[in-house]
Amino acid sequence: MPPIYVEFNFCPLCAAKLDVAIVEGKERKICPRCDYIHWGEYSVGVGGVLIHKDKGLIVQRAINPGRGRWTIPGGYVDQNEKIEDAVVRELREETGLLTEPVSVLAIKDRPEDVPGVKHDIYIVFLLRYLGGELKPDPGEVSQAGFYTPDKCRSFNISPLSLHLITKAIERNQEGDLTPGFLRKDGLPIVGALSELYTLS
Ligand SMILES: [Zn+2]
Repeated sequence: MPPIYVEFNFCPLCAAKLDVAIVEGKERKICPRCDYIHWGEYSVGVGGVLIHKDKGLIVQRAINPGRGRWTIPGGYVDQNEKIEDAVVRELREETGLLTEPVSVLAIKDRPEDVPGVKHDIYIVFLLRYLGGELKPDPGEVSQAGFYTPDKCRSFNISPLSLHLITKAIERNQEGDLTPGFLRKDGLPIVGALSELYTLS
């Protein structure tokens, strides 16, 4: 069963019943007691492309959403977690493999993941293998393996996963080992955990 998202009716801070008012040009839920404004519901997901000998790592999902479907490994980012830490964690949890981020390959924006209720953003990294053996977590993944793009096409695979694996392998064959945005250190950015991904 897909997850159910219920729109807020009560203030998450003080539990008063929320009103609807126009705030910055749009109808939004606001709290009449403590001035809380509900700006929206957002989720951030990450995925990881890991290439080995012209094959890409894909997993078959054991749980919903998308049970039975093959995708690159990944999952949701925790509240105080860096996106690159999230993708490394998800890879380790789902496949047992230790990796490190190389570059950002893609961003998928899905403002109507749940129409009018939830906005989802998905960021895909290229990863480098560091260690560990492929050992799928049966709670999340029913199978995992490295497959050529041609073989991937024979599975029920997410088109975005297939596209990114294919492109990453093509770039690799052309000698481009770090396609996409790279983490840039040394530029002043506001915030303790802030990271910047930009052109190298
Ligand atoms: Zn309130």
